[in-house]
Amino acid sequence: MDSVEILFIVALAVLLGWSVAVAISRGRAIDRLRDATGASDADDVERMVRKAIEDADDARWHAEQTGHDTDYLTELLTAGVVRLKDDLTVEFANSAAHVMLERKPGTMAGRSALEAFIDARIEGIARSAMESGSANGEVTVRSQSGATVTVRARRSPVAGVWLVLEDVSELRRLQRMRAEFIDNLSHELRTPLTTISLLAETAARDAESASPRLRDRISKIEIETGHLTQMVNELLDLSRIESGTVQLMLDDVDLVRLARNTAERLRLFAERQGLTIDLDVPDRVSPVRGDEDRLGQVLVNLLHNAVKFSPDGGRIVVGVREDQGEVRVWVRDPGIGVPYADLARIFERFYKVDRARVRGRGGTGLGLSICRHVVESHGGRIWAESEDGSGSTFILVLPQAGQGGPVE
Ligand code: ADP
Repeated sequence: MDSVEILFIVALAVLLGWSVAVAISRGRAIDRLRDATGASDADDVERMVRKAIEDADDARWHAEQTGHDTDYLTELLTAGVVRLKDDLTVEFANSAAHVMLERKPGTMAGRSALEAFIDARIEGIARSAMESGSANGEVTVRSQSGATVTVRARRSPVAGVWLVLEDVSELRRLQRMRAEFIDNLSHELRTPLTTISLLAETAARDAESASPRLRDRISKIEIETGHLTQMVNELLDLSRIESGTVQLMLDDVDLVRLARNTAERLRLFAERQGLTIDLDVPDRVSPVRGDEDRLGQVLVNLLHNAVKFSPDGGRIVVGVREDQGEVRVWVRDPGIGVPYADLARIFERFYKVDRARVRGRGGTGLGLSICRHVVESHGGRIWAESEDGSGSTFILVLPQAGQGGPVE
């Protein structure tokens, strides 16, 4: 045999060996597939593989359609919707977002958040949401219209961040107008009311020897004028607090001392109705950072209500406790209580529970709204607990000094 023949035979042997190896490994692969799928033979395996490919195609088609549908839906929204990728580049922005931010249609996708919004604050909100899961804010857009936009950002459970933008310029304009209107109206009403008040006071003095009927009428004028004056003052107060023009005069406040003083101030008023005011306070609690006059105003409002909405006779309790970095103050009364459905609503402005229940004890419905604003501006919270008909407890919680609270 010459060397060419030997080479030919070796090559043939290698080829044969390789073919056998491929056949064996294919057989093994088919066996493995058969084991995994429970198929009975190679045809069955093939059928199953084809079916799996079809299912995958179907799933991809559905996913694409859902994507198109979501895009279509977001185009119908008047709110701006923006989706950012993990690296904070814009993946998608609907038309409303382009209009709100005054960008040409279709120019936001692919840009970084900073480039797309031209506003570091919106990018900052998106970044916070990326880190903590959610973030909200309100910004005035740097554009010709200067729209005021609220931004709600949520980290997507899949990837990136969703932003929802809402144009609240008109709402804010109307709120400003309302605040200005109330401010002006209250000022205008105050002057004639002061005059009527003084006149009623003088008339009451002059009428000491007049008939009981006349004295009674004058006294009613005095009472109603007092109501009106209180209403106007509360309106003015609330509109100032809401518009943020009230500056808190911050100091360390001892809530035990404040509770004692307020109870003292209202004791006579309560006793006239046969009610006692008891204190349930420790010797001392850590101070809170706050405006003593404003916090005093809250306690006066709560105690005033406790007396107003309680039957004659009974016990009102003012309590203070310190707990885990917070100081809690409560006012418990034995009064008519607040129905469950009204518990959250009584803190809204002008809200009053069924007026028929408290005929003759009318107020403005603004007191609790003022309380809530004051407490929240101190970084605290306030709520009411009550079982209808068996009294109410109004509770407020404020952070201890140094544990968060009002901005200095
Ligand atoms: P006002 O007392 O001037 O009506 P508030 O804002 O202080 O306004 O209170 C709102 C409403 O909440 C009251 O009209 C009353 O219906 C209810 N309310 C407040 N405090 C009490 C209380 N201690 N007991 C029962 N109802 C109360």
